Amino acid sequence: MEKNLIYLDNNSTTPLDPRVLESMMPYLTNQYANASSNHRFGHQAKDSVKIAREQIAALIHSESHEIVFTSGATEGINLAVKGVAEFLSDKGKHIIISATEHTAVLDVCAFLESKGFEITYLRVDNDGLTDLEELKSSIRKDTILVSVMFVNNETGVIQPIREISNAVHESGALFMTDGTQAFGKMLIDVDDLGIDLMAFSGHKIYGPKGIGGLFVRQRRPNRVKLTPLIHGGGHEKGMRSGTSNVPGIIGLGEAAKIAKKEMVKDRQAISTLRDELESKLLKIPDTFLNGQPEKRLYNVSSICFKGADADAIMIGLKSIMVSNGSACTSTKIEPSHVLTAMGLSEEDAYSTIRFSLGRFNIQAEIDKAVDLVSHVVSALREMID
Ligand SMILES: *Cc1c(COP(=O)(O)O)cnc(C)c1O
Repeated sequence: MEKNLIYLDNNSTTPLDPRVLESMMPYLTNQYANASSNHRFGHQAKDSVKIAREQIAALIHSESHEIVFTSGATEGINLAVKGVAEFLSDKGKHIIISATEHTAVLDVCAFLESKGFEITYLRVDNDGLTDLEELKSSIRKDTILVSVMFVNNETGVIQPIREISNAVHESGALFMTDGTQAFGKMLIDVDDLGIDLMAFSGHKIYGPKGIGGLFVRQRRPNRVKLTPLIHGGGHEKGMRSGTSNVPGIIGLGEAAKIAKKEMVKDRQAISTLRDELESKLLKIPDTFLNGQPEKRLYNVSSICFKGADADAIMIGLKSIMVSNGSACTSTKIEPSHVLTAMGLSEEDAYSTIRFSLGRFNIQAEIDKAVDLVSHVVSALREMID
């Protein structure tokens, strides 16, 4: 890592845990076998992939055959939404999603809209939470899928997943959730929560980039069937063909194992730092927090510095890496759709910074960040006055 760099952008991506790298090294060097090869060397790779699949299943209380490896959450989301839409298009063409979904979900649904599907976008309240009554009244006979993200990447807001899945299942539709920001950071029991499909990613939990997966329920209450996106060879039970990314899969498995073992410890350490950062930054005049304070994940803080432009703040912060809204939309000059859906004005959305902490942050970094942010924000405001 660049010297003196303070990385507070862990919701965009996380550094690779050295233990994960170590677990991958053999598969990047000597153990290069194709996991589908029918010889002893191939069988070794296959056995290692099996263990990784079990480690991931253990983290979300699923069966290991319900895990499909993909190149990341975006592909998992594409597979889930397009795969179900295609498979169930005779049953109905109506899909419901939340307005604050990640662009991966939004863009897939926009594509399906152009192919004749109808999409309903659920509003959120000022706290970023989905209204259950609005969800219930939006469900129709021809609704095939409802997708509401688990934890929002910009604000950390946690949706009431169990209540949502109950309402969805009463109607016979499938319930999917983008679990990318929840996976590995909080307890997830896909049975208890009534999840039918859940996408996740390696690089958000200190694993490698280019690997992720999709949980596809194969037991009560729903044996989910979907049409694959990628054909050829029938890997991953025919749901995702292509030679397995063995080093990536091993790394994701190790990252999942560490996340399960150290979840409580991570939570305590990270939430202590986050709470301190947040309470000190909110002492700066004319600031406010985005998202329901109690119903948020412990590592994120989305703060509006009224009257100070987020891009200008980021330039002033120099070696402190944060985000203005979501990195995935930061190439577009539009205010964050998540924040505007929560009722923020465009101006306040443009003045919001997301701080997202991770396993490797330390106290000294928080102290520095508080000092520098306070300094930069007041300097910017003085320039305007
Ligand atoms: C990062 C992220 C994604 C995309 O994940 P990739 O593995 O990079 O494709 C999707 N949804 C959420 C909520 C994310 O934070």
